[in-house]
Amino acid sequence: MLWAGPVLTANGFIDGWFDPGNGENGDGEPPGPATEGVILPPFRNCHTHLGDTLARGEVPDKLLAELVGPDGFKQRWLADADVAASITAGLREAADSGTALILDFREGGELGLEQLSRGAADAGWCVEQGAPQVIPFGRANGGWPLPSRNAGLSGLKDLASGAGHRMAIEARVFGGLVALHFSEVERESLELMLEHEPDVLVHLCNCSDEDLHAIAEKGLGVVVCPRSNARFGLRPPLEELLALGVDVGVGTDNGMLCTLDMLAELRFCREVFPDVAPDVLLQLACWGLDETLKKAKECKRLVDLPGGRILLSQPRVDPLEAVFDPRAKVLATRFTCE
Ligand SMILES: [Zn+2]
Repeated sequence: MLWAGPVLTANGFIDGWFDPGNGENGDGEPPGPATEGVILPPFRNCHTHLGDTLARGEVPDKLLAELVGPDGFKQRWLADADVAASITAGLREAADSGTALILDFREGGELGLEQLSRGAADAGWCVEQGAPQVIPFGRANGGWPLPSRNAGLSGLKDLASGAGHRMAIEARVFGGLVALHFSEVERESLELMLEHEPDVLVHLCNCSDEDLHAIAEKGLGVVVCPRSNARFGLRPPLEELLALGVDVGVGTDNGMLCTLDMLAELRFCREVFPDVAPDVLLQLACWGLDETLKKAKECKRLVDLPGGRILLSQPRVDPLEAVFDPRAKVLATRFTCE
C-alpha cells in the first residue's frame, strides 16, 4: 500500500506520495490506493547511550554525577545487566518511533561494542522494515585500546590523565570521528577540549558566550539533549547555537533517563525553546548534524547515511502542527541506505 499526504522536503511540505515497497515517490496524487498521513524523512538521534535503556524505572533520584559518573548508579547497573538485551530494547523503541540513524556512545570497551552488535542482531524485527543504522562511538576500558574507529568520550573531568588524548589520536588514526561530552553541569576548559580535536560536542549547557563563538568558528557539530538536561535543571543553548550557524543535532542521551522517541523530544523542545521555529526543530530531528556527517562521509570516515521515509498519523490539518500534536503516532517506517 502506498503512503500519501504532506511530504516534508528541504523546502517545507508538499503534497505527494511514497511507495514503501520500492522507495519510489512523487508529487501530487498517488498512482494507487494509499494510506494517508504525514510523510517525513526518518529521524536521526544524534546522541544515545542505548546500553542503559532497561535501567529506566530503577534510576534513583540523584545528582547527575552520582548517576552517570565513574562508580555511579549506571556503571554498577551495566556491570550486572544483560546489556545486549537493554540495547535491543532501546533499538526497538528508537526504530518504532521512526529513527533510522543513531549515534551511540558505548561504554565498556571491546565488550561494550560486542554487546551492541549482539543487541542489534537480536532486534531481528527490522529486517523487513530496513534496519536502523547505529554509528558506535567506543570508549577504551582503562584507557587502552580504543575498540572502534570512533571515540565517544565522557566529560573531561571523568577522563583519566592522558586517556582522552590517546583515544582521540587513535580515532584519528583509524579515520574515525571524535565526540565529547562538554560543559554539561559546569563550565570546562575550552583549551583542553580543543586539544582533543573533536568533531562533535554534546550538551554545552554551561558554556560561556566566548566558548560558543569559538566552537562555531571551529565548525564543530553540537548535539543538544534537552529532555535529559532538564531532569537536572540544565538547558542547552539551542537558540545561540542556531544563531551562530552551528551544525546542530538532537539526542535523547541515556536510555535510562529518557525514551528514544524523537517525537517526544521534539515536543519538549517546542515547550522549552518557544523562540525556535517548529519547522527548524523538525529539521534538526530529521537532518541533525547534517554538515558534520556529510563531511565525514566525503572523507570516508563514515559509511552511507540511512534514508527512507516514515508515515505519521495526521490529527491536525496543518502538517507541521500535526507532527507536534501528542496524538500523532508513527504508523509505518521504511528505512533504506542512500
Ligand atoms: Zn551522553
